Amino acid sequence: MSVIENVGLLLLGVVLGHLFPHILSIIMTRSKSSNKQFPAHPQPIPLSAELNRRILDMRNWFWVGTFCAIIPLGFGWASLKSGSLPFGIGLWLSAGWVVLNRLQLVFSEQGVPWSRSTAEKLQLIMNDIEKNPCCNMPSIEWELTSVRCTVCRKKVTDLPRPDLGRNREDSRFASFFRLWISGGMPVVVSDEEE
Ligand SMILES: [Zn+2]
Repeated sequence: MSVIENVGLLLLGVVLGHLFPHILSIIMTRSKSSNKQFPAHPQPIPLSAELNRRILDMRNWFWVGTFCAIIPLGFGWASLKSGSLPFGIGLWLSAGWVVLNRLQLVFSEQGVPWSRSTAEKLQLIMNDIEKNPCCNMPSIEWELTSVRCTVCRKKVTDLPRPDLGRNREDSRFASFFRLWISGGMPVVVSDEEE
């Protein structure tokens, strides 16, 4: 087999191995009907029980997707044993990379952005604002990098907002590609105005 064919198979393995664990969280919540209750992306999203449910859904797809990495790893293994060596290596490299990357997130300081603790944190904020409102008509929303009251602009907490399953305005392909590469992690932006 020529060098070009080998490189092509390696790249194909890398792409498929990386795509597989991401595909579920990219497609599972995007239907129009499942996003009716939320403002369109990229607008801030009001804190609510629906938002908390969505965070837990995104968490589930994140972990199911991670578990699904077993499929490219299995194919990669079979390919290494009795198929195309470069294709198998490609699958192993990228699917293994995704799994390691996600596991290190669990132990990192910021943690997985879709987690029970994120949902609990938002719930506590809602409870707290009910008891100690920041202004007369508090309306708490999750912006790109923080949770704020849209009325008095008080910042409640710094919390970068990850992908929440809403459809994006840009073309289907562009948004798919962006979500795939970023894994739906929050974008890092410099601090906004106070
Ligand atoms: Zn307020």
